[in-house]
Amino acid sequence: MAGERPDDEAKMAVVGAGIVGLASAVFLQRGGARVTVLDALSPGGGASFGNAGLLSVESCVPISLPGMLWQVPKWLRDPLGPLAVDWRYLVKAAPWLLAWVRAGRREKVLAASAALRALHAEGLEHYRELLGPTHFHDLVRTQGQVQVWEGDTVSREERLAHELWERHGVVSESLAPHELRQLIPEISPAVSRAAFLPKNGHTVNPRRLVESLASLLREAGGALRQERVMKLLPQAGGGFRLVTNVGDHRFAKLLIAGGAWSKQLLAPLGVRLPLETERGYHAVVKNPSFELRLPVLHKTRGFAATAMEGGLRFAGTVEIAGLDLPMKEKRAEAVLKQGRALFPSLKGDDVSIWMGYRPSLPDSLPVIDEVAAFPGLFIACGHGHTGMTAGAATGRLVSALVRGERPRIDPTPYRLARFR
Ligand SMILES: Cc1cc2nc3c(=O)[nH]c(=O)nc-3n(C[C@H](O)[C@H](O)[C@H](O)COP(=O)(O)OP(=O)(O)OC[C@H]3O[C@@H](n4cnc5c(N)ncnc54)[C@H](O)[C@@H]3O)c2cc1C
Repeated sequence: MAGERPDDEAKMAVVGAGIVGLASAVFLQRGGARVTVLDALSPGGGASFGNAGLLSVESCVPISLPGMLWQVPKWLRDPLGPLAVDWRYLVKAAPWLLAWVRAGRREKVLAASAALRALHAEGLEHYRELLGPTHFHDLVRTQGQVQVWEGDTVSREERLAHELWERHGVVSESLAPHELRQLIPEISPAVSRAAFLPKNGHTVNPRRLVESLASLLREAGGALRQERVMKLLPQAGGGFRLVTNVGDHRFAKLLIAGGAWSKQLLAPLGVRLPLETERGYHAVVKNPSFELRLPVLHKTRGFAATAMEGGLRFAGTVEIAGLDLPMKEKRAEAVLKQGRALFPSLKGDDVSIWMGYRPSLPDSLPVIDEVAAFPGLFIACGHGHTGMTAGAATGRLVSALVRGERPRIDPTPYRLARFR
């Protein structure tokens, strides 16, 4: 492929075969582009591999909320807590952490919440369209989710979350303790409050979902290449060269969907993204002693429990430690410990653990945009805690932007220019 020219405007590369890259690639290919997806890993080998699989289409609460800063010392002191910072990385992370704190101002939270709502609300319909009925029914469940809390004190953040739910018409049913136990008999008595969100869903296997998109892309005539992109080179006459570990390719247009690594791909072009990784962990109990009927999101402890094809998956925690420091298996063990505390009767000692890199921008919103300085260069990254939920919707929006069509949702909140 070295030295070849983009023979038509339709020739497009997507860098990144995660949920965001592949959902975009399938929509683009079906819309008439000739798409090649490049990834150093096989499809779904990044953050999209090991997430909790929640398709939280009702999710409209940003991560940074007013007053949260005062909770941070308590979380950091707790070895089982939802947040950890590697002190060796603190100086590098400081600008992002400060921006994250600033994003917690009330007026910014209200704006981010509306933008999350717009991106997520039709998420399941977009997956239905993207996957088609057979894959959708095979991979996606739409019976809802349960959110739980410990203690009787309703925190300031929880009050605000409920206000945002009301503002956006989120459907939630508060569950009395006996109703919760009817639904999920195995749940710990430590849980004192619960809500059922019937419109949310989950996937039983995020990796297989991404792999199915790779198959759908090939079926539609698109291509996948397992190559690491080393540099993007905009060409004087238009188009781009992509230099990879084993190739030098030319494309008319590019989409960067490289998850947490997107920042380093774009930096040489002077495109600045305040992207940081919030590392997260999972522990899967294979052959668990019971089948969890609905996913449970433990809001007080910051993790989720989801019944998946490989077992019962506990996933969560945030670790600020960048892309290069080694994983800390203790964090995965902490997630497992929390999971076992939530389901005291759970048996099963065959456990696998994993760490992945959430691509996070401080305001909890992704960037989905064309770079003004380089027409034809598009970005879709930074989906943080809800990339699985927003994957298909992002693909829809990207495909409209690339085709120059009017998108179904207002793209303004996801613009790169908001960070200027
Ligand atoms: C513990 C945990 C739990 C989570 N739970 C949920 C959940 O329940 N629901 C939800 O909605 N979201 C959840 N998320 C978030 C979600 O997983 C991510 O937001 C989403 O997977 C991001 O997708 P992506 O395609 O942007 O990135 P990725 O899946 O990381 O894909 C990016 C790809 O780009 C490739 N790449 C990068 N640089 C290059 C290069 N130079 N050359 C070639 N390829 C490159 C990488 O190899 C990678 O495959 C969770 C995340 C974690 C860590």
